[in-house]
Amino acid sequence: MILMQLENITKSYHSDAGSVHALRNINLKIHAGEMIAIVGTSGSGKSTLMNILGCIDRPSTGTYTVANYNSQTLNDDEISKLRREYFGFIFQSYHLLPNLNAITNVELPAFYAGIEENIRNQRAHELLKRMGLAERGNHFPSQLSGGQQQRVSIARALMNGGTIILADEPTGALDSHSGHEVLEMLRRLQQKGHTIIIITHDNNVAESTDRIIQLRDGEIILDTKKVLLNNNHPDSPQLGLSPDIKKKASLSLNEHLLNATKTALHALKANTLRSLLTVLGIVIGIASVVSIVAVGQGMRDSVLKSFRDIANLSLIIYPGSEAGDDKAGSIQSLVISDIDALAQHPYVEYVAPQVESGERLRYGRNDAAGQVTGINVGGFKKDGGLLVDGRDFNQNDIKDKAQVVLISDLAYRKLFLPGKKPIGEFVLVGRLPCRVIGVVSNQGSASMRGETVNVWLPYSTAALRLIGKPYFNSIAVRTRKDIASAQGEKIITSLLEKKHGVKDFYIYNNHQAFASLDSTTFTLTIGLGSVAAISLLVGGIGVMNIMLVSVSERIREIGIRRAIGARKQDILTQFLVESIFLCIVGGLIGIGLGAVACKGISLFSSIQASLSLISIIVAFTTCIVIGISFGVIPARRAAQLDPSLALSRE
Ligand code: ADP
Ligand code: MG
Repeated sequence: MILMQLENITKSYHSDAGSVHALRNINLKIHAGEMIAIVGTSGSGKSTLMNILGCIDRPSTGTYTVANYNSQTLNDDEISKLRREYFGFIFQSYHLLPNLNAITNVELPAFYAGIEENIRNQRAHELLKRMGLAERGNHFPSQLSGGQQQRVSIARALMNGGTIILADEPTGALDSHSGHEVLEMLRRLQQKGHTIIIITHDNNVAESTDRIIQLRDGEIILDTKKVLLNNNHPDSPQLGLSPDIKKKASLSLNEHLLNATKTALHALKANTLRSLLTVLGIVIGIASVVSIVAVGQGMRDSVLKSFRDIANLSLIIYPGSEAGDDKAGSIQSLVISDIDALAQHPYVEYVAPQVESGERLRYGRNDAAGQVTGINVGGFKKDGGLLVDGRDFNQNDIKDKAQVVLISDLAYRKLFLPGKKPIGEFVLVGRLPCRVIGVVSNQGSASMRGETVNVWLPYSTAALRLIGKPYFNSIAVRTRKDIASAQGEKIITSLLEKKHGVKDFYIYNNHQAFASLDSTTFTLTIGLGSVAAISLLVGGIGVMNIMLVSVSERIREIGIRRAIGARKQDILTQFLVESIFLCIVGGLIGIGLGAVACKGISLFSSIQASLSLISIIVAFTTCIVIGISFGVIPARRAAQLDPSLALSRE
């Protein structure tokens, strides 16, 4: 049976220096079960012919048929499968993967064929035993002699069957004894039905085969065909051809990812230092992103908070139909019941008329010029005040227009002797006697600084009992924080319009000021974020560089993997998984480090760095995106490498 047939095969290499015709017009038929030597001087085209026979390389012109498949009609996955399931390669320099032990090296072709781990492990053990290396399974190539390495590579060639064994100078690097052993093994394989093709310089080796093909300048000048084989040659039991090449040439996504992940993790482990350096780059990038964004966020929050302390009443209602209404002073449209109505609205957090009046304060023989402010429950807080003694007003005080007063600590010092308890004492506010129920400290708040002697009355008391007017010049309203102030304005407008039957008021909304502050601080965060993004980018480029270097360092590894049947996809995914994995590990450590840095900054400086979940999520996603995007270029480069070129690279 004709196993391989070459018709008018040529192979040329083109470069700036001109064209090289490595093979010219090759016609050749090889039967199943033959043992052939290819001989010729250096540069005569032996390796090129071997690469084409083994589907590591494609011819420039002509047709190559192997096992009834025209090689031109097969796609890359199918060619890869052909290499995996029909061919076994043996190279002069063994081409074992240095980071894998003997067993794993032998298993590799079955690994890419998707064969179960225990099955392939058992088979690898058997093959090594057959090669007389039963005890050497866990040795790495560097721990084996040349002859032993070559026997490991024969075992690897047989892993998936090895119907056709292609050996390029298999004895070239061996002493005569080891060389003889290897040749013996190949002869025994031929007797079992394998087809053996050997490239050799050695006349003794050539003489020991059944057929010698001699090349000169890319042409066949001699073909001895010592033994004529045909379909039913009694001495050559043929190996059953493996099943359909087109069937299941690619793996399922799951198998594929699992394989790639295993390979990638192994490769990372084998190159610990390089992996650590890459991770370090990512760690620095991510940690700085996380902490810089957190610090920016913290600064923004604290600026906003201090601004809100000063001006946190976002809506003020005035009488009159529009700002600057001439008659505003005499319009009496804002009344006590408006306050009640507003207070009951679920979106309203605080409402109080703005009632202010300068009054004399008197207690016993002491007196002072005071500033009286009418407030609602909790209203002193808007000035940054803190209750340090007694209690706040309650709803009943408001409703009953109770004659109770909150005094500032400055008012306390002006009116009372040191040590005197003020709570329960009566102070004269203007001509209104009021019982002191609490003392408020100003905590150095901006709006209460200075020498103003502040006291606070319930707004109803201040309006009706002290000033004696049942209507207000303005009402301040604060809507809930989660309600946009424009929406709050709309709600209040419609509420009052319905109640009054006419729009006899207008609303001043200071959200504009807030909006610009918000956008300023937002710009700050964005600015810090872009600094962080740049550091991420630098980290990413670092990953890409290291992965690219790793591709060029590992060209031979990639060539070997491809020669024994790895698909392009296998190589691509392996490199991608490597870089994504590095980025994820680096990202996690970086986030941890960033969190620690935030804690440190908060502890040792006045900035409360706020570590937000969003910044963590963003940083982590960025990590993965960097892993993919900066991993793709090197991974594609690795996958696209021409296996024959990759193998010839030393
Ligand atoms: P042999 O194995 O018999 O020593 P080769 O098959 O390796 O010879 O090479 C045959 C010819 O093709 C040589 O002249 C060599 O320089 C040339 N050649 C082989 N590979 C390449 C390549 N990738 N690019 C350019 N020329 C090549
Ligand atoms: Mg060669």
